[in-house]
Amino acid sequence: MALITGLTRDGHEWTPDFIKTLDKELCIGCGRCYKSCTRNVLAYEEVDTEDTVKAYMKIANGGNCIGCKACGQNCPKGCFSFEPVEAHAYGYTS
Ligand code: SF4
Ligand code: SF4
Repeated sequence: MALITGLTRDGHEWTPDFIKTLDKELCIGCGRCYKSCTRNVLAYEEVDTEDTVKAYMKIANGGNCIGCKACGQNCPKGCFSFEPVEAHAYGYTS
């Protein structure tokens, strides 16, 4: 299986771990992931409950992800999962 790989600035190969899932049941809407992502992958979503409006994060543009995992590193609730992607499987399907 050939995975999508990249090169570091000094020419070393690395394998990106692309965003796979974001568990909105765990999400507290703190926005740390949103601030971490430079690729416009994430967006807030608001849900009305009986008394309040709950904000949580969602994957809005998954195909923009470069697999840096900065969002997951900064999430205090462990909401994210990641996966490498096969080189022939371009496109985001979740
Ligand atoms: S892995 Fe990087 S590019 Fe992808 S959503 Fe997270 S912060 Fe953005
Ligand atoms: S960092 Fe985690 S808990 Fe905070 S908004 Fe993002 S997914 Fe939700």
